[in-house]
Amino acid sequence: MPWHVLGAGSLGLLWAARLAAAGLPTSLILRNHDSLQRYRQAGGIQLVEGSQQRLLSLPAQTAAQPEPIQRLILACKAYDAEAAIASIAARLGDNAEVLLLQNGLGSQAAVAARIPQTRCILLSSTEGAFRHASFGVTFAGQGHNWLGDPGNPVPPAWLDELTQAGIPHAWSDAMPARLWRKLAVNCAINPLCVLHDCRNGELLEHLDEVAGLCAELSQLLAQTVGATAAGGLLDEVRRILQATAGNYCSMLQDVQRRQRTEIRYLLGQACAEAAQRQLHLPGLGALQARLRQYLLSLGLPAD
Ligand code: NAP
Repeated sequence: MPWHVLGAGSLGLLWAARLAAAGLPTSLILRNHDSLQRYRQAGGIQLVEGSQQRLLSLPAQTAAQPEPIQRLILACKAYDAEAAIASIAARLGDNAEVLLLQNGLGSQAAVAARIPQTRCILLSSTEGAFRHASFGVTFAGQGHNWLGDPGNPVPPAWLDELTQAGIPHAWSDAMPARLWRKLAVNCAINPLCVLHDCRNGELLEHLDEVAGLCAELSQLLAQTVGATAAGGLLDEVRRILQATAGNYCSMLQDVQRRQRTEIRYLLGQACAEAAQRQLHLPGLGALQARLRQYLLSLGLPAD
């Protein structure tokens, strides 16, 4: 059963390259014919991992190709996910499955609503990759992937293929809690790094601000996904800041490249959930207002 990977960005190239390298039939779905032309000229995906470099010449296509799709990995940014699935929805066969790689929350529900007959599997990843060329990806951070389907606890048959491709993973029956927890960690770190224009480690100098946010985020987690997911948030955030002290977070990298951020699916989602539950979280609200104003001042979308 072939894999289709929509989105030739950092994660899409990483997933497609690993599946193809394991001999699993895999096709990339590119945005348009120009992109397809450039991909063919490049000769495939260049995967760099440590000192190893490989060229994987897997086939590519656009969404316009008619062949049905059974296994799709949706690997675009959260703000592109709904339009991307709409572009391919007519090709999804009976019993098709879609793996959603998007960070944050909100886009998964929007995608699922577009394809109500199709099983959507949620993913939370701590792996890291960046694009060093149009179709070149550097696997920069070893990590883990948790996958799950809150509507159906039965793991899909293809998990073995991820093992075969060396993609570290575990099937989880607690995906909403995992995604909310990751979102909360992101909300405690990324917006402040953008506003202070600093590396993760430098946030340790603003620990009062971080602690205030963690207290509010813990309240939100407790109400949304339960007390277990809310525990020890500040300790975890502090550990992450120490372990990744020299890194720029993904949101600041987007801002530095003058690219749209995923704020709507991260801090925006946290604030929307708090409002819906009539939870008064003034620190989060003020952070969202400051961040939006800052993004607008740079000419970037505020959501
Ligand atoms: P990315 O590098 O920006 O890649 C997204 C790709 O999707 C781009 O190549 C984009 O094409 C393509 N795309 C968007 N809409 C499309 C469409 N309709 N048809 C075809 N292609 C389309 O993003 P990323 O870093 O891989 O991130 C993907 C998701 O994974 C995000 O939610 C991110 O937060 C999450 N994530 C990333 C990492 C990481 O290390 N990179 C780690 C964990 C989680 P264009 O360039 O033409 O727009």
